[in-house]
Amino acid sequence: MTVAVYPGSFDPVHNGHLDIVTRAARVFDAVVVAIADNSEKEGLFSVSERLEMLRAATSHLRNVQVDAFTGLTVTFAQTKGAGVLVKGLRAVVDFEYELKQASMNQRLAPSLDTVFFMAARSHYFLSSTLIREVARLGGSVAGLVPQAVEERLRVKFRMR
Ligand code: ADP
Repeated sequence: MTVAVYPGSFDPVHNGHLDIVTRAARVFDAVVVAIADNSEKEGLFSVSERLEMLRAATSHLRNVQVDAFTGLTVTFAQTKGAGVLVKGLRAVVDFEYELKQASMNQRLAPSLDTVFFMAARSHYFLSSTLIREVARLGGSVAGLVPQAVEERLRVKFRMR
């Protein structure tokens, strides 16, 4: 049984992430979507809000679970018994960063492999940063994030 861990910030989850989770869930026996709780970087949404949104958005995928972790991704993956880290690769900008991460992770945990899924063309430009920025400025992110996330973004920016 191959368990894959798909780590990221997911602040908030968007359709590019969901495309990768869905495809990874077809390839691996189990996928753990793992929210990196990086206290140095304060997010727009709290980790528990991100967990809720991700859980709701993936509840139809029976072999997917969502969790959060602090510390090294490889350590978390090992505690989950994972053999694979899943990453999404957008256009060229992601490549250098992901290559660095993958080679460091391989050094830290040689038996853990990183597997890349190419972003769908329609999601090439999508990032949580861009979603937050557009929503903050009052633009529509409909069709780019699940509807529940769209609503949460609206509430979040109305509250500020
Ligand atoms: P971002 O804030 O840039 O959306 P995350 O840290 O939440 O990034 O991303 C988690 C993982 O999902 C990373 O492996 C990232 O490369 C991947 N990812 C992010 N956006 C997309 C997208 N639009 N299509 C495919 N993969 C993506």
